[in-house]
Amino acid sequence: MITFNKPHLCGDELNYIRQAVLGGGISGNGDFTKKCQKSLQEKYGFKKVLLTTSCTDALEMCAMLCDISAGDEVIMPSYTFVSTALAFVRQGAKIVFADSRSDQPDIDADAIEPLITARTKVIVAVHYAGVACDMDKILDIAKRHKLLVVEDAAQAIDSYYKGRPLGSIGDLATFSFHETKNITSGEGGMVVINNEHFMKRAEILWEKGTNRAQFYRGEVNKYGWMDTGSSFLPSDITAAFLYAQLKSIDDVQARRKALWNKYYTTLKPLEKSACFALPVIPDYATLNAHIFYMVCGSLEERTALIAYLKSNGVQAVYHYLSLHKSPFYKHLYDGEELPCCDRYADCLVRLPLFYDLTFGEIEHVCNCVRTFYAMHILQSTISAAIINSEIK
Ligand SMILES: *Cc1c(COP(=O)(O)O)cnc(C)c1O
Repeated sequence: MITFNKPHLCGDELNYIRQAVLGGGISGNGDFTKKCQKSLQEKYGFKKVLLTTSCTDALEMCAMLCDISAGDEVIMPSYTFVSTALAFVRQGAKIVFADSRSDQPDIDADAIEPLITARTKVIVAVHYAGVACDMDKILDIAKRHKLLVVEDAAQAIDSYYKGRPLGSIGDLATFSFHETKNITSGEGGMVVINNEHFMKRAEILWEKGTNRAQFYRGEVNKYGWMDTGSSFLPSDITAAFLYAQLKSIDDVQARRKALWNKYYTTLKPLEKSACFALPVIPDYATLNAHIFYMVCGSLEERTALIAYLKSNGVQAVYHYLSLHKSPFYKHLYDGEELPCCDRYADCLVRLPLFYDLTFGEIEHVCNCVRTFYAMHILQSTISAAIINSEIK
């Protein structure tokens, strides 16, 4: 079976964990945490990085930092992971969902402005599959309406918008190091603070509402309860694992991009006749090879394709269900239909993509896709011919 994902070990994970454990201190904000934060700040020009135990945690920190309270409105795509919305809902926000672009699952920047009201506080840009949202348009809208911008860059490590690293553009940004992401620590994440205004408070929320981080730096001579917050910081064992992965990021990215390109060039000649759509990377965005997906012609076609791939030893999976139609939120949603979002929910399928996947395995997956569509086209031609002959 070619599984959808298989976590990759870069080599030094166990060495660093050993170092952390033998070093004596393995709670949060230790040496490996500091090393990870520093290397991420330097490589991507992030103003301040704090590791968290997940991207969900990082999003919760963002919702607190943005001072979201009951009735405040947050605009985001409906085609995203639950956590993007949940973090703000916990603070009492009303979520206002915007549709995706027709050529690509990212939020349609042109759909945002009509959704703004006097209660709108934040726009969340989710960079789906690591492909940048149209950030200039979003920043311009935010500036004119005095809104904050949070980038949910969970999937977007090492990806760029017009040369700027994703996660360095919004007031705040979040990343995930979950096992399914390009760089991982099993569970893990980080929050990026680009807006100076949030720097000090972020550290306090991170450390259970205390100014302990300042105390450790010797900036205050005792620490105490300053604000709300939680225990958002990961153990230094998690950070040690992550540091090994971060050191290998260039190698990981090169490998994933090579695999992604192999899929793309193999499937591209089939795209038109088979009627599925391949990913679109706008001129302003780069590829970070987080996901390789296809958009099928219908839900039935996707269900049949996934079943066919499974019967040939390939695990392909669909992705998000529209959040505005979810059991939890559908009663609260009072907005427009979101047809592009629904189309991705019904028709998008992700093919296996992980570091240790081989080019031969990709050939096999693509051959299965080719055979499936050849059968599919033949079947529709036959049924059309039968209908025609019945009419005559
Ligand atoms: C993975 C993901 C998350 C959640 O990340 P965790 O680290 O599992 O909390 C949030 N948003 C998006 C877009 C994701 O892909």
